[in-house]
Amino acid sequence: MARFIERTKYDWWSTTWKLSIFVAVVLFAILVIYPWRGFLPTFLLILAGLWMYVSLVSRKSGYRCGNCGRAFQVPTTVNFFTTSSVGKNPDGTYYSYKTLTCPHCGKSSKARVLKRVDAQAAKGSGRLLK
Ligand SMILES: [Zn+2]
Repeated sequence: MARFIERTKYDWWSTTWKLSIFVAVVLFAILVIYPWRGFLPTFLLILAGLWMYVSLVSRKSGYRCGNCGRAFQVPTTVNFFTTSSVGKNPDGTYYSYKTLTCPHCGKSSKARVLKRVDAQAAKGSGRLLK
C-alpha cells in the first residue's frame, strides 16, 4: 500500500539535491567527455543522467488529479516527456504540477505533485494504485 501526502520544504530540498547530481553529470559530460569523445557520447550521457534523475523522482512522487482529487502515479516514461510547472497557492506559497490525464476519471487537468509514502516496506513496485 502506498499513500500520498503534500510535499514539504524537505522534499523540495531533496529534489534540489538530486537535480544538483544531474547538473554535475551534465558538467562532467560537457567538460570531460565532449573534448575527449565528441558529441554523441556526451549527448547520451546527459540523456542517461536525465533519465536517472526522472526515475528517482517518479519513484517517490505521485499526482493528485485536479478534477476528481484522486491520487495516481505515472511511469518514468510519462514523467520524462511531460514538463513540470509551478503554480501559486492563495496563501502565497508555491506548488508544482503537471498537466496529466487522470487514470481514474480520464480527464486532463493540472495534477499537483505529491510525495509517496509507503505504509510499510511493501513488496512489488507499488504501481497499482487505486
Ligand atoms: Zn481524476
